[in-house]
Amino acid sequence: MIIVMRREATPADIAGVVARLEQIGCEAHVSQGQVRTVIGAIGDRAAVQMVPWEAVPGVERAVPVLKTFKFVSRDFQDEDTIVKVGGVSIGGGSFTAIAGPCAVEDREQLMRTAEAVVAAGAKVLRGDAFKPRTSPYSFQGLGEKGLQLMAEARETFGVPFVAEVLDARDVELVSSYADMLRVGTRNMANYTLLAEVGRQPKPVQLKRGFTATLEEWLNAAEYIYKEGNHEIVLVERGIRTFETAARNTLDITAVPLIKRMSHLPIMIDPSHSGGKRDLVAPLARAAVGVGADGIMVDVHPAPDAALVDGEQALLPAEFADLMVTIRSLALVLGFTV
Ligand code: PEP
Ligand code: MN
Repeated sequence: MIIVMRREATPADIAGVVARLEQIGCEAHVSQGQVRTVIGAIGDRAAVQMVPWEAVPGVERAVPVLKTFKFVSRDFQDEDTIVKVGGVSIGGGSFTAIAGPCAVEDREQLMRTAEAVVAAGAKVLRGDAFKPRTSPYSFQGLGEKGLQLMAEARETFGVPFVAEVLDARDVELVSSYADMLRVGTRNMANYTLLAEVGRQPKPVQLKRGFTATLEEWLNAAEYIYKEGNHEIVLVERGIRTFETAARNTLDITAVPLIKRMSHLPIMIDPSHSGGKRDLVAPLARAAVGVGADGIMVDVHPAPDAALVDGEQALLPAEFADLMVTIRSLALVLGFTV
């Protein structure tokens, strides 16, 4: 149930509703909007429904939530969530580019890439230290050394960074270095990991599971939100379909649908969806057109020698060209860039 407060509700009215919910054994989650406050009630539905909410001071109405997810839904919060990563805002009308190598391989590779993507306009650097590889014999990432190199790149180029966390046991480690944590497609339904990233203070990027419906995806976000971390950015990265010509099928439709269903920002990863260098630019352009809040792009100074995902990495110069186009498209469509 969501309790919608009147515009003129006072802090005492809000505290009164919270106390009332706690009295009947429910958890109360308060969301303070620009215009009004809404309070999510979690617990025994029948007990919540017994309260004559419309008679409680400051309450406008009580709305049952029929969806399986609550706090990440538009019903709970009408305004777009804006997620802060270091000094960078994602969502709320801006178009943000995140770029960098798929994996940190060594200092030289990382610094060359970071310098180029920041010069081209990327606001957040990507680069993973833990890689989820299909084969256990493939390069698995540099571990903590990779995070240290990312921290060095942050100092040198003045941008925050995002890195993937694969295992609940590594959350504290990754969180101690990175400005934003990422849960990848393979772990979208790893509920232990989701809860763990929900209990640490850094914002989280949550990729869509490659076989997940939008509802399953938003429920995964709900696991994070429910633990107290509300700084979540969704990333559409393509899903598995019968089509095998591209690595995955980018589900463009997910963007307007998610915008209707949820207040969370949603970005597009044109690299992992198409899986091929020449698909990155067209898919990135589509991301602007469809109203996504940004893109995340793999870039590598020598893609042919890359240890991970070289086929889809852009050269720094290609990324710079793409950013020129993206910036003008975003401005035409009314984004701030
Ligand atoms: C990545 O972004 O490097 C990655 C592993 O992506 P995904 O989880 O979407 O496959
Ligand atoms: Mn990759």
